Amino acid sequence: MGPAGPRLPDREQHFVNGACGLAPRPHMRVVHQRRCKMNRRTIMTGALAALAATVTARFLPGRAAGPNKAGSAFEITRSDEDWRKRLTPEQYRVLREHDTERAGSSPLDKEYRPGIYHCAGCDLPLFTSETKFDSGTGWPSFWAPLDGAIGTAEDRSYLFLIRTEVHCRRCGGHLGHVFPDGPKPTGLRYCMNGVALTFKPKISATG
Ligand SMILES: [Zn+2]
Repeated sequence: MGPAGPRLPDREQHFVNGACGLAPRPHMRVVHQRRCKMNRRTIMTGALAALAATVTARFLPGRAAGPNKAGSAFEITRSDEDWRKRLTPEQYRVLREHDTERAGSSPLDKEYRPGIYHCAGCDLPLFTSETKFDSGTGWPSFWAPLDGAIGTAEDRSYLFLIRTEVHCRRCGGHLGHVFPDGPKPTGLRYCMNGVALTFKPKISATG
């Protein structure tokens, strides 16, 4: 008898696999882990709510994608066709359609060399390696962006979850979300899609 204690590695794997049907997205991780402790009915309810929210979001204006679609609020604006030509299909889905890459799919998650992370859409420098940390989520995470590099918007694409969406200040490309559960000194966790970033390592003086 007695409940099985939480075994983090298994739960992590469970999450990554999306085994209970909840999409393994950065912003869902905390909620997911909470739900996974609940009964099947709760999990199903949560999954259905998330699905309904996703479907609803597709047909409602005012989603965090709004500023991107409007285009006029940003310094760099391009037609949808132009973006498609310039970006890989994966980059396009994340940057222009607010998709989320699969956890652990980006090599930048484990990139810890000194250097700068740029926007994959317009090359604006966004983060430095000095603020990068291993969040264990499978997505590149930082505790602060470079000054003036990003913009944020309220994201209500999930019915019961209001999140803060993060995008490139210059081109509006969707990067990820920011959560208040990061490390010191800011306590923030910028959970980024690696495919939305390009990494430029610092050139060492010794070559
Ligand atoms: Zn950009």
